[in-house]
Order: sequence, then C-alpha cells, then structure tokens
Amino acid sequence: MSGELFSRRLPGIDFGPLLRQSREADARTVAAILARGRARDLTEFAALLSPAADERLEDLCRLSQAVTRRHFGKTIRMFAPLYLSNECVNICKYCGFSRHNAIPRITLPVERVVEETRLLAERGFRSLLLVAGEHPKYVSNGYVEEVVRRVLPFMPSVALELGPLETQEYLPLVRAGCEALVVYQETYHEPTYKDLHTAGPKKHYHWRMDTPERAYQAGFRRLGIGALFGLYDWEYEALALAAHSLHLTRTCWKAQITLSLPRMRPAAGEFQPRYVLPDRAMVRLLCALRLLLPHAGLVLSTREPPAFRDGLFTLGITHASAGSSTEPGGYTSFDPEAWKPTRAQEGEQFHIADERPPEVVAAAIRRLGYEPVWKDFDQSLVLSEN
Ligand code: SF4
Repeated sequence: MSGELFSRRLPGIDFGPLLRQSREADARTVAAILARGRARDLTEFAALLSPAADERLEDLCRLSQAVTRRHFGKTIRMFAPLYLSNECVNICKYCGFSRHNAIPRITLPVERVVEETRLLAERGFRSLLLVAGEHPKYVSNGYVEEVVRRVLPFMPSVALELGPLETQEYLPLVRAGCEALVVYQETYHEPTYKDLHTAGPKKHYHWRMDTPERAYQAGFRRLGIGALFGLYDWEYEALALAAHSLHLTRTCWKAQITLSLPRMRPAAGEFQPRYVLPDRAMVRLLCALRLLLPHAGLVLSTREPPAFRDGLFTLGITHASAGSSTEPGGYTSFDPEAWKPTRAQEGEQFHIADERPPEVVAAAIRRLGYEPVWKDFDQSLVLSEN
C-alpha cells in the first residue's frame, strides 16, 4: 500500500466548490464532459450529479452503459448475503440490529450456516457475502474462519461484511480463503456519524474509514465501500464516496474496488430517513461513478424494488444480489418452491424491496440481453497470490 490513509486526506478536500458544482454546473460544462466520455476528477464528477446533467440523463446513461460493457461485458455477477448473526454491541440509530432494539438475537451454529449455504448453492449461487453484526464473541474464537472453510467447497467466492478488525485479525480470514471485505462508512459526514453512532466500537469514525486499507494489507483483493443514503445530504455522500474510491484505487491498486449505493429501508426501531436520494438522482450518481471509475464494481442489492432494479442493471451495475434474506437463518425458513419466507422475519436487519426468487431475477437480467454470472473466478487468483 502506498500513501496516507483516507481519514487523513478527507479533511483536506474542499467540499464547498464541489457541492456548488453538483448543484449549479451549467449545461456547457456537462456537455463537455459527456463529449469526452469521462469524468477526469471530482469536479467533473460533481457536474454529472447536477440538475444540468439531469437534462442529459439519456446521454449519460448511454455513455455509462457503453463504458461498463467495454470493461465488464454484458454480465452481472450474482451473489447472496448470508447473515451469520444479528448480535451487535453497537448502537446505530438506523439499524434493526442495533443493540437497543428488542429483536430475537441469534448467532448461527456452523452446521446451520452450512445448511443455509447449501440451499443457496442449490439455487445457483457460487458467490456468498457473509454478514454479521459486531460482536467479539464470534471473531475471537475462530468461528468465521471455520465457517469460511466449511462453505468454500461449494461456494468458491466468499466475501465478508463484519465489524472492522485489525490487519492481524484479518490475516487468518484471508488465509481461510476469503477474497473480499465490505465495509460501508454509512455516512462520511462526521457530525452526523457521531450523532447516529452513540455506543460501541463503531463510534470511531476514523477507525472505520481506514478499514479498507487494513484489509488490503492483510491480502483481501476486493474491497467494497459504500454510503447509506438517507443519513445525510446525498451530494455530500456521493462526493466523499467518489473521493474514497479514487483514493483506494491509487493506494490499494492490486485490489478491485466495489461501490454500493444502498438507500435506507424500513427496519426495527423508530428511525426515519432524514434525507432522500431520489430515483433520478440515483441514476445520475450511478452513471457519474462509472464515468469517473470505469473499472470499479458497482453493486445493487435487493433494497431497491424490482422495476427500478431492472432499469439499473444495464446502466453500470456489475454485481447484484437476489432472493435475499437479511435475517440469520432466514433461508432455512423459506418455502423451497416459491423462495419466500414462510414466517415473519422478526430478526431481520431491514426489509428488502425486491422479493423475487434468484432465478426470476436471473431471467429478467437475461431478457435485458445480459448474462447473470454465478461463479466468481477471482478465487483462483486469490489463492495463487496468498
Ligand atoms: S449497522 Fe452494523 S454495527 Fe450498526 S447496529 Fe447494525 S449490525 Fe450493528
């Protein structure tokens, strides 16, 4: 890894002019960027978020689609999240797993994880994202490594979304065969971050922000970052996320960077989103990211409703989840035919919007002329490098 940590760079970015550009860029500026087919820096990226860019939305979408096809072909990599645990020591005001919410708490025994993974493998998945709240009890005792070893034989690509760890703590997980680490900053706006994260290790804004660099040092070769849209002003989050991606592209150059743009969904607790990322703005953001970061993976989850997802698939998305449960043990309670929950998912993190079974989503992707890819071939690369 080269260069300083992003948490030290962020305070040096002058967001004032960038935010003005994202709201007031003129048509000529936008036209010049579209003519070049590339956003060369954050200022040009900001212009593509603007109302003037909205006037050129079709052109922006066409360019984003073309750039994505050039670098990724007409493919979408399919993955499934598998929730290991909803036990969490943090208070995050917006999350269903937050420790102040009275929901049933469970950490799946390894055998149960294997059982759930088999169900997902039978559905076609070969790429798994293991998700858990933040709790010392299942990171300190080798639980996650054992899970990874047990699922790898039939799920060759395994990514992790856990509470941030030290580089040393990541090493055994990489050795066990994990290829990717996902950690969302949630909000890059420090005062908002501090207001929303009031207890537990997640309070530490900088520690979380520098997780991708620690993960890279441990050997992860795919780093996923994102912001949770709805917590703060979307243009600010978009600019900070883009800056973070540019930074990681330079400093962690052997890794692929993936970005997620999750929008708030209903969850346990009283939290109401304070800000909105409207649909058209989300499309602009997706396309603007593609023109700034042609090689970045762009991830789409089941937080978005079916029709909107189908519209986004061809505009720049490279990775998509489908048929997801956000409750530990949720898949074993699904009806195997309809792939739908057979009971209320009281222990879920949030309620998904696209409830279609994986094969229905895959069929929709095929109808769009794209190929859903179930197997992630990066695993052979990961094993040969470590
Ligand atoms: S967002 Fe993550 S860390 Fe915060 S309460 Fe939810 S699971 Fe725990």
